[in-house]
Amino acid sequence: MSERYAVIGHPVAHSKSPFIHAEFARATRQDIEYRRIEAPLDGFRRTADEFRAAGGKGLNVTLPFKGQAFVYCAQASDRARASQAVNTLDFREPTFGDNTDGVGLVRDLSRNLHFDLRSSRALLMGAGGAAQGVVGALREAGVAQLVIVNRTVAKAQAVAARFPRTRACGYEDLGEESFGLVVNATSASLVEAAPPLPEAVYARGALAYDMVYGRDTPFLAAARAAGARTSDGLGMLVEQAAESFFIWRGVRPDTAPVLRKLRGG
Ligand code: NAP
Repeated sequence: MSERYAVIGHPVAHSKSPFIHAEFARATRQDIEYRRIEAPLDGFRRTADEFRAAGGKGLNVTLPFKGQAFVYCAQASDRARASQAVNTLDFREPTFGDNTDGVGLVRDLSRNLHFDLRSSRALLMGAGGAAQGVVGALREAGVAQLVIVNRTVAKAQAVAARFPRTRACGYEDLGEESFGLVVNATSASLVEAAPPLPEAVYARGALAYDMVYGRDTPFLAAARAAGARTSDGLGMLVEQAAESFFIWRGVRPDTAPVLRKLRGG
């Protein structure tokens, strides 16, 4: 019988993860089944327990349960502890929680977009779950400087305080500073808004990256108009999924063919 995995979230109907994991499984000849589970907003633990009791082997966790998944797991990886959020649960004994969002972003930037993180000054917008999940990985990838900017400055300060050599500020504090990488980890794009960035924010040849995927966003449109190179977050989605697949199955799938298919190529 196939071993069972799922993505749990609310809402989750839009998730591309079942397609991605089915492609990985086919390419690596792994016998798995992967589906979507929409848990009630107050029912993450119950739903995860039920899936596990029914023989489920692991879960991907998406909005709004990543923080609850961190509390749920008995043992967390260093990167999950640093972000205090879990997007991958492995139902080994004891239940293991990891966060693959950061490595997903860094791999998309470096391997798919050929962006040299080591020499860049990076601006990360947002201080929610998505932003917290990638700060550690950006730091480890060797960015020269990392600034976290958020509408609610206190939240950015609380996140930055957990990481070395990371600064926090509000949008109005950015002044004339410019960055080689600007990552949108806010949810502004979901309501067709763009964070209030000053025009000077893009250094020559800068990359603007929106974690939202599958469509153009006001942030990406404004960045393009300012002369920046742009990318959505589809590559991050595929790369974080590949890392989850590796945690569960011990096999590293090739991401390029899946990313091409999702882009309609
Ligand atoms: P979250 O915890 O709700 O945090 C939302 C963040 O966005 C907060 O920092 C909030 O600022 C900020 N924000 C919201 N509206 C804003 C606006 N109009 N202007 C400026 N800032 C605004 O959400 P999350 O879990 O971090 O997710 C953020 C986004 O990342 C979502 O769109 C999600 O789909 C995406 N994501 C993508 C991937 C991928 O694989 N590509 C992975 C993870 C997440 P305040 O603190 O001031 O409220």
